[in-house]
Amino acid sequence: MGVVVLKFGGTSVGNVERIKNTANRILDEKKMGNQVVVVVSAMGKTTDQLVTLAKELSSYPNKREMDMLLSTGEQVTISLLSMALAEKGHSAISFTGWQAGILTESVHSNARIIDIDQKRIINQLAEGNIVIVAGFQGVSTDGEITTLGRGGSDTTAVALAAALEAEKCVIYTDVTGVYTSDPRFIPQARKLEAISYDEMLELSNLGAGVLHSRAVEFAKNYQIPLEVCSSLERVAGTVIEEEVTVEKSLVVRGVAFEGDITRITIFGLKNSFQNLSSVFTTLANNNINVDIIIQNQTDGEDAYLSFSIKNDDLHDTSKILEDYQETLGFDHFEYEAGLAKVSIIGSGMISNPGVAAKMFSTLAEQNIMIKMVSTSEIKVSTVIEEQQMIKAVESLHTAFGLDLVAMK
Ligand code: ASP
Ligand code: MG
Repeated sequence: MGVVVLKFGGTSVGNVERIKNTANRILDEKKMGNQVVVVVSAMGKTTDQLVTLAKELSSYPNKREMDMLLSTGEQVTISLLSMALAEKGHSAISFTGWQAGILTESVHSNARIIDIDQKRIINQLAEGNIVIVAGFQGVSTDGEITTLGRGGSDTTAVALAAALEAEKCVIYTDVTGVYTSDPRFIPQARKLEAISYDEMLELSNLGAGVLHSRAVEFAKNYQIPLEVCSSLERVAGTVIEEEVTVEKSLVVRGVAFEGDITRITIFGLKNSFQNLSSVFTTLANNNINVDIIIQNQTDGEDAYLSFSIKNDDLHDTSKILEDYQETLGFDHFEYEAGLAKVSIIGSGMISNPGVAAKMFSTLAEQNIMIKMVSTSEIKVSTVIEEQQMIKAVESLHTAFGLDLVAMK
């Protein structure tokens, strides 16, 4: 008898009817003779609503209290789902993150899981119970409730699958799988039968909302077979695995996009040799996630430095740069908000030159100005104006042949 971990997102538990449907799905798995661990998100848009409530009281709510607040969403779902299963005659037990033994680092709002003490779950499974765990939360080494970052329930599920040496981990969500782009905004997006961990990692990191990127990282590190499928429709989903053999001909497998990006430019950075490291160490120590970095240093001149951050981090970043301006040794800084990042991803890029060139010419044809560029072996990202984001994604989707992917 194997352990399976099933994760249900907010839509799948959005109301009482859906919770009952989810209970049926879980029982199907249980009846196949498996030991079932379930991870759930908060109901529907609960987390967003809690964020809104907090922002009505405070523009910059305290991060500890924010975690205390947001972790309540999942706690509602686990208890209700457990009741729904009991009503159908099956014994289930709900656990918060700490009860499930999920230990995280001592960081609020974006903590990483550092260890899982799975004893309590294993004991409950051995007694025949379905174990339901609150996603997105854990407890820090100093006993505080932490959260894993928005979308973090996926990571709870995969981390548990690794700790329990599960046979599989299925992420049930409101889309039928991983698409070539986000189908909610890009109507011509197509479902992929399979995608590699690396490609999925890039897609998730680049803002494809379907899976939390740390979940993919975990899955890759522990070689957990991951499947993304719909909780509402019974159709084949997308398998995420090491090597993908289908649709080999696609050089680009996805176009990802993400809005709410700000570019910061620092002018007159003296002696960039040392100061570059000081700037980013200072930002990192303050938990500011920096994305694309561009530095230009000509001999004998002061350097200028641009980097992108999320709009939400603008306040903190500006404050840090003001406070440290003298120490870091630069003239002044400027920022431009309202930007977006649009990226193309595909393992096929490694062996096919000219992919970036084609991306740039496609955007040029649409009169889209590129403000920043960054590349890795399997992706090219551009920063553009947010207003042009959807147009950019659609034209790239067409240019790289993704409109024509056959769907099963
Ligand atoms: N409820 C949290 C969120 O909305 C975590 C999750 O759903 O994965 O971000
Ligand atoms: Mg999600």
